[in-house]
Amino acid sequence: MNKKNQVIELFTGYSYANKETQEMKANASVTLVKSENKIILVDTMTAWDKDVLLKQLKSYHVQPEDVNFLVCTHGHSDHCGNMNLFTNATHFLGSCVSFRHLYYYHDFEKNPYVLDNDVEVMFTPGHTSTCVSLIVKNSTAEKNGTIAIVGDLFEKEEDIFDDSLWIEAGTEMEKMQRQNRLKVAEIADFIVPGHGPKFKVTDEMIEKLRLDLHM
Ligand SMILES: [Zn+2]
Repeated sequence: MNKKNQVIELFTGYSYANKETQEMKANASVTLVKSENKIILVDTMTAWDKDVLLKQLKSYHVQPEDVNFLVCTHGHSDHCGNMNLFTNATHFLGSCVSFRHLYYYHDFEKNPYVLDNDVEVMFTPGHTSTCVSLIVKNSTAEKNGTIAIVGDLFEKEEDIFDDSLWIEAGTEMEKMQRQNRLKVAEIADFIVPGHGPKFKVTDEMIEKLRLDLHM
């Protein structure tokens, strides 16, 4: 059995809509994954959060140059605000994969992009047309469960029973997002959403997501 993949929530994202002022206060969840051979960071908050991010990484003994893969789940500013701190890492900006001026072609529709044993980047469009999620199997979660770190495929746990929360947060491809929400929930034991704490996937949630697809 491979060594377990350690998943650490560095920052818990949030979002609050203010209908009166037509504003949304939001920042993204940041997750650190220490797999067997690699250090992977998922999302980087806004450009104003450099110090918070560096401090959090340091508390887990990670320097920015130690990061091998930076996975920004999509190109919204609260998810990719600090990419230039991680110059030794291969960058994913959604499904766009690059290192310096080299851009790599990968057919995400066919296969996920494997980063290490039991760790892969999966194509999960919906919120934007190029969103990705990090799928971590054999994790440090209970029973070596699978953790999906999904950006804004799920806004927060509450959005499963209140669709307005993810739809009003913006969806470029609503039907596709519904399909990918179900697909991810079916393989994951836990989900780290873009703007809330990690939650456990229950049978009731999967049932609800299935019903949503047939609406
Ligand atoms: Zn977001």
